[in-house]
Amino acid sequence: MESVSDKAGGKIELSMPVQYLKGVGPARAEVFAQLGVGTVGDLLEYFPRDWVFAPGPVKINRLEAGSTASIIGLVESVDYQGHSRSEIFEAFLSDETGVCRIIWFHGGYLKGKLEPGQVIMASGKVGVYKHQLQLTNPKFLVLDEKDSKAWEFFSGGVYPASSRLSSGQIKKIIRPVLGRVDELVDEFYERDLLKKASLINRREAFRWVHLPPDEEKLGKAKRRLKYDELFLMQLGLALRRYRCRHYCGAAAMKCSEEIDSRIRKRFPFLLTEDQDKCISEIAGDMGRGEPMNRLLQGDVGSGKTVVALYAALLAVANGSQVAIMAPTEILANQHFISIERYLRKSRVKRVLITGGLTGKKRAELLEQIKSGQIDIVVGTVALLQGDVAFGKLGLVVIDEQHKFGVHQRAQLRKGELPHCLVMTATPIPRTLAMTAFGDLDVSIIKHSPPGRGAVVTRRVARADRAKAYEFIAERLRAKKQAYFVYPRITAVEENGDIVAATEGWEELAKKVFGKFRVELLHGRMSSEKKQEVIAEFRRGKIDVLVSTVVIEVGVDVPNATIMVVEGADRFGIAQLHQLRGRIGRGESKSYCFLFAETDSEVARSRLEMMERSNDGFEIAEHDLRLRGPGELFSTRQHGLPDLKIANIVEDYDLLVMARRHAFEMVSQDPMLTQAEHRNIRRALLHKFGDSLGLADVA
Ligand code: ADP
Ligand code: MG
Repeated sequence: MESVSDKAGGKIELSMPVQYLKGVGPARAEVFAQLGVGTVGDLLEYFPRDWVFAPGPVKINRLEAGSTASIIGLVESVDYQGHSRSEIFEAFLSDETGVCRIIWFHGGYLKGKLEPGQVIMASGKVGVYKHQLQLTNPKFLVLDEKDSKAWEFFSGGVYPASSRLSSGQIKKIIRPVLGRVDELVDEFYERDLLKKASLINRREAFRWVHLPPDEEKLGKAKRRLKYDELFLMQLGLALRRYRCRHYCGAAAMKCSEEIDSRIRKRFPFLLTEDQDKCISEIAGDMGRGEPMNRLLQGDVGSGKTVVALYAALLAVANGSQVAIMAPTEILANQHFISIERYLRKSRVKRVLITGGLTGKKRAELLEQIKSGQIDIVVGTVALLQGDVAFGKLGLVVIDEQHKFGVHQRAQLRKGELPHCLVMTATPIPRTLAMTAFGDLDVSIIKHSPPGRGAVVTRRVARADRAKAYEFIAERLRAKKQAYFVYPRITAVEENGDIVAATEGWEELAKKVFGKFRVELLHGRMSSEKKQEVIAEFRRGKIDVLVSTVVIEVGVDVPNATIMVVEGADRFGIAQLHQLRGRIGRGESKSYCFLFAETDSEVARSRLEMMERSNDGFEIAEHDLRLRGPGELFSTRQHGLPDLKIANIVEDYDLLVMARRHAFEMVSQDPMLTQAEHRNIRRALLHKFGDSLGLADVA
């Protein structure tokens, strides 16, 4: 079949389907489609997964031990020895200067592929065996007769292939396209930037990444293409943020010195430096006529609620209503209690809306909320999404605690223009804060308020359990309290491990801590019963609280200084860190014991990290490296295209650079209408479609 680009001068464009390229027809186009390649543009971005730098061929008598070399010769003989452990494939290759032995370990796959009489090129490490030079595990290529191009196809990229399309075939299809890169690829940046950022030009980068002359140039090509990929992603985020701000208005809330000091008087302590910093960032946002979209991150107990309450009181001082939402009723209740503590004798009207509130009383309250008489409404997300309507809602505070739902927030904001502050105790690695959540502003509380005791974390193996129990009993006798957390509510014994709270509770209550009051708390208990148990624990009437992860939320007891996690290998590291956040809230030293029996390398590494570090960010970063960014938060979930060449963890420095560059560009040319941004704009439209609203002004 004659193809379009076959003809000299045939037009070629990035958007052209690969089907019309030389060597591709409908059948291969289908295979390409499975590899995610539909157009010529996709093909150019179908990057090799590895690269071969084969040196030019030498004669066999010029081989030198220890070097890497390529030779061309006739296959004289082959031999295959398939032992139980190792399979060795051996060949002898000759040219007019000598004979060379080649061996491939695990070479079973070469049976039937390499045969006497073939002429091959082999490239690899030259070793010595029984005083003779040999090549070990070389890459090789069977040469067609007089195949002058063979050399070119030997080195270069190795592509992720499929069973129906080999890397070599892909290479043959891409090579001619590389010759036309000048027609296909446009430069994005001005020369100054390229120089400042030490980036090579974009055309060269595409040519070199597929066919690098040497490793150094490959490195430069990769760096440039990674930068572009990160830059476009950041530009997408910057534009999305700009658009949100540009199209939505919000009440500008003034913060005078008088208001500030009036709010601060409510807190019986000085705010920490971190709290002050977050507050000034938040007040700055709220003072602009654009909706705030800010994430407030800090470990459990770091003082986020206080910061959020500051924001709430600022909104109230400006005549607005505030909704404070929590994921569960326990937590909503907890928020309400702490707000009450700070607002004693204040004229600020606040209510807690719970599921238990029904009938006339509820109707009355809803009416007051609607008419704007109530300033602060606390409840769960579900409740507030229901029938509650606000007269003049100016700020929404969402405590997501440990979850993090970007979409949930997006929905909630639809049609409304309140400022939005999201609190989370999940330490978001800096890389993800800049990518998956890159259109949010982030405030971080790094250091908890002073006067917190240290937390010591130890893994406890089965053999040391009794000792740990004894240690804990001693603390209990000193009137301290303990948490025991289990992976599940009920279960049969698994491998002799008690992993369920109900069984664990019986054992602990009857045998281990018979002299103390041990109570059970889990999600299947009624709401009242739960509240009752928590209240008793808070008052110090309960010594040991046995539970599932429900205690993640809403329990703040400084006197509880011991946390035992049963089956700790079953929890993710972020969750372990959150659980540990329950203790270390008072002044005494606290202890976290991780009970785990595991052979899993990953689980062990996690537990070791917990022993080593109390820093949520460090832990999150570790987790990110361990699991890869894809698993934690996929960028796709956020409507961003997946990255093909860059890696947000490994290429962090480039990411930071690209981000700064992108946000600067948007602040200076928000719709990218300037002539010098035309190529970038086109690339963005190609990547994101019109989800960024760029086409509006095309
Ligand atoms: P978070 O919401 O991050 O879990 P909170 O705001 O509930 O944290 O604060 C945890 C505890 O620390 C509360 O008992 C609170 O009263 C106390 N606290 C908060 N900020 C300070 C501060 N600046 N100095 C002393 N104690 C503080
Ligand atoms: Mg809190």
